[in-house]
Amino acid sequence: MERRLLIAGNWKMNGLSKDGLELAKGVASESKKLDKCDFLICPPFTLIAAAKKALRGSKVALGAQDVHFAEKGAHTGDISPLMLKDLGCKFVIVGHSERRADHGESDELVCKKAKAAQEQGLTAVICIGETDEQRTAGKTIEVCTKQILGSVPEKSTYRNTVIAYEPVWAIGSGKTPTPAEVEEVHAAVRKVLAKKLTKAQAAKIRILYGGSVKPNNAKEFLSLEDVDGALVGGASLKVADFMAIATNSCC
Ligand code: PEP
Repeated sequence: MERRLLIAGNWKMNGLSKDGLELAKGVASESKKLDKCDFLICPPFTLIAAAKKALRGSKVALGAQDVHFAEKGAHTGDISPLMLKDLGCKFVIVGHSERRADHGESDELVCKKAKAAQEQGLTAVICIGETDEQRTAGKTIEVCTKQILGSVPEKSTYRNTVIAYEPVWAIGSGKTPTPAEVEEVHAAVRKVLAKKLTKAQAAKIRILYGGSVKPNNAKEFLSLEDVDGALVGGASLKVADFMAIATNSCC
């Protein structure tokens, strides 16, 4: 089964109007030279409308970094799936480890957010991954299995779901698991998805690797059988680095 690679940028809490716009325009223009993979950028909420304009005419998809599960109402400071759809988003990241840690998000909450996003026609990028402590205790597969079972809505399909495996200790640290370790987790995740959803859906769902992906190491991860792209934090803030991740590995 052919799964097109997805190179996704998570800008996190970075970018003001000028640099954010330049970054989005740069990705839009450079991506036109590369047609073997899909691109996604997830700017902060404040830059989504400007990024949408900058991406016009390109195939780069637009996403957000979080969402509330309700459609509207008394949730001060939150943004609904309907609002994201209205802004032109096609994707939304849910359950990033920084949200799980900073905002105490549980698998149950992540699942509610993913389901609400899917119901509005958005694709949920559901993040999972073990901490350093859990890895040292040999619990990586156990932790990721539990997160998949708890965070992925029951009727998820390859059209409305992407999984991102991001070991917490690899995010922003410059450290990464070995390619063999990444493949082991991705293969295990696909097996769990097959049990939870169906074999056919699991075979088609894209599973991204995230955690210190850079131009110089992208290929070793993106060439693995069960790795279908990358969720990129730091290196997505520079057009050249973000595009080099694609050119070095899939285009
Ligand atoms: C992330 O936060 O999703 C991420 C993968 O960050 P970085 O690439 O900077 O490790």
